[in-house]
Amino acid sequence: MSHSAHARHFAPPPATTGGRRELIGLSRADLAAEIAALGEPAFRAQQLWHWLYHRGATDFAAMTSLSKAFRSRLAEHFTAGRPEIATAAVSGDGTRKWLLRFPDGQEVESVHIPEEDRGTLCVSSQVGCTLTCRFCHTGTQRLVRNLSAAEIVGQVMLVRDAFGEWPAPDEARRITNLVLMGMGEPLYNFDNVAQALKIAMDPEGLCFSRRKITLSTAGVVPMMARCGEELGVNLAVSLHAVRDELRNELVPLNRKYPLDELIAACRAYPGVHNARRITFEYVMLKGVNDTPADAREMVRLLAGIPAKVNLIPFNPWPGAPYECSTSGAIERFARILMEAHLAAPVRQPRGQDIMAACGQLKSASQRLRRHAAAAPV
Ligand code: SAH
Repeated sequence: MSHSAHARHFAPPPATTGGRRELIGLSRADLAAEIAALGEPAFRAQQLWHWLYHRGATDFAAMTSLSKAFRSRLAEHFTAGRPEIATAAVSGDGTRKWLLRFPDGQEVESVHIPEEDRGTLCVSSQVGCTLTCRFCHTGTQRLVRNLSAAEIVGQVMLVRDAFGEWPAPDEARRITNLVLMGMGEPLYNFDNVAQALKIAMDPEGLCFSRRKITLSTAGVVPMMARCGEELGVNLAVSLHAVRDELRNELVPLNRKYPLDELIAACRAYPGVHNARRITFEYVMLKGVNDTPADAREMVRLLAGIPAKVNLIPFNPWPGAPYECSTSGAIERFARILMEAHLAAPVRQPRGQDIMAACGQLKSASQRLRRHAAAAPV
């Protein structure tokens, strides 16, 4: 399927509530057009933007720098909502997971990972995922649609709400980094992801630097250059195998965009240099991709690319056909990379006890529905 056909097929439903249009997720230009259509001067759109994205207001009545008349017209025509929280969970290690539900009943998960010097919010870009990587739980979920820009940036705003961080403090805020590493393939929903990230990066709003944002892709090669040019965010690539034969099996997208094309696109990624390296994610699967020969082949494959490798111990899920590599195998693998001057940190699993770790996300509603369908009637 072409990218545009893909986008149409999986389009999110229009965001209106009782005839009122959702403002969150509109680009600055579209917001300005809506306000102009009400016959209001352009600076009103600017003020409104500030209330929405700097102050996090969801109630037009609270936007006290706006005239009363304007506030009531806004409330008549628009909403400034958030996804609904279906459930929230906290891990023993402080990781938090929210299951969010949209008006059409579809659900995604967002995960906050606190660390000593930062806090990372892991955001979803699709309900489910079409890629069916063999080791990933999300790939087993049947129903898939793209998230709208509102639903993507809404995840960040909702977690800001949860932490009471409006307006965002300059220091000690709990979300310092954003990663597009939740459910879905962000480069299969590029337009909405791009619109959401442009809002997230707007200096008069959520104000995330592009350096604090990482987009992870399984390797949608034709979209990678646009990602670098239009967004300039950090890129992470889910590599997981260094030979086509194995990668075809683990990451079926490789049959469409094989390793030589993927590596060429990484080499050409705009703005990559030694201070701004591409992250290669590599899930450690026992007896599958964790031999010293694999590590040496990776060194050869990544030669000349400003790269770091994130080794991810496989996170199990019910029915998964793999096991995690032994710590000895992981250490040996990392050592070979480091001897070749590739940074190779091992990612600490976070939030495993609440199924919030990499590759464990899956909307509970889908599981429940499948059980319900299987029950005798
Ligand atoms: N579709 C994008 C975004 C998802 S990122 C991508 O593939 O990059 C989620 C990351 O977690 C990916 O690197 C994915 O390969 C990894 N992952 C998936 N299942 C995993 C598992 N069971 N254990 C550890 N990592 C996993």
